[in-house]
Amino acid sequence: ALQASRLLADVLHGTPPQQRRAMAKAITLLESTRPDHRRDADALLNALLPHTGQAFRLGISGVPGVGKSTFIEALGLYLIGQGHRVAVLAVDPSSSVSGGSILGDKTRMEKLSVHERAYIRPSPSSGNLGGVAAKTREAMLVCEAAGYDIVIVETVGVGQSETAVADMTDMFCVLQLPNAGDDLQAIKKGIMELADLVVINKADLDPDAATRAQAQITSALRLLGLHGRPDTAHHDDTLWHPRVIQLSALQGRGVDAFWQAVSDYRRLQTANGRLAARRQRQARAWMWDRIDSGLREAFAQHPAVRQRLPALLDAVLAGQVVASAAARELLGAFLSAPPPAGGD
Ligand code: GDP
Repeated sequence: ALQASRLLADVLHGTPPQQRRAMAKAITLLESTRPDHRRDADALLNALLPHTGQAFRLGISGVPGVGKSTFIEALGLYLIGQGHRVAVLAVDPSSSVSGGSILGDKTRMEKLSVHERAYIRPSPSSGNLGGVAAKTREAMLVCEAAGYDIVIVETVGVGQSETAVADMTDMFCVLQLPNAGDDLQAIKKGIMELADLVVINKADLDPDAATRAQAQITSALRLLGLHGRPDTAHHDDTLWHPRVIQLSALQGRGVDAFWQAVSDYRRLQTANGRLAARRQRQARAWMWDRIDSGLREAFAQHPAVRQRLPALLDAVLAGQVVASAAARELLGAFLSAPPPAGGD
């Protein structure tokens, strides 16, 4: 208990080195799967909660090589220059397999990573996306409680991890390369529907292609606005309409315009109540997500379920028992006897 209150105090009010150490410790604690650690982590997070929520949460996505780390470094240093403190987290469910494609490499964000006003943490490597996303949400709270007022969550532009990041941030930005093939693919994948802001990076390489891509994606977004988002069907100045901008992360050009767009978004979505509604929606979904996975885990560990499941599964696979009947029987076994005490 003494250690826990020390950790809490250091995250909130420690000197910069103390705070950094305490944040790392806190995040390690909440990434642990040990039940006693989990209880300590929950207590810590609840104590931190009143000190969170003031930060702006920015999601950034894009395929490997598009320039995410170059951009985040440029943006981070720019924001620090404006007086902000910047935390960078990552969601990369493949990191446990690949050894970390995001933020694992020490050469990424060289200047930002050593800056006193920046905190960078690689993706948790707990395997499945749900677990990784849950840990990242919690790490985000630790960063906010420590006074980081801009939290950037980075993810690779593949699979469901983008949805997960859009679901934990206030604003979701997609980085694109200045060639049309990519853009059309991204639109097809439905990623554009998540994007509040699209950034054409590496505009320095081919300014004409970047301008074409900007026009193309802008019209694609307008189409989505008409068909995919009924609430933006009529142009309404009180609502945010996704924008497309060009940027060169390498040359640091366009970073100020990027931040201007983010600031416009934040102001508008705060005034019209959408930001608060988005966070409430996220909190509700997050809670149910954790309930679902907690129930699944308890179910899988329940003695009566463990005892009966293998034979029932075999019977289902052999076509002797209907899947729904087997499920009902197992649920019945689960619900009729409480799990043994001490289970988590
Ligand atoms: P990530 O995998 O998305 O994080 O991409 P990186 O930030 O590692 O960038 C991949 C490569 O693209 C690196 O060699 C960068 O120097 C380069 N790069 C990033 N942004 C730009 C840019 O705006 N212009 C140009 N020409 N190269 C860039």
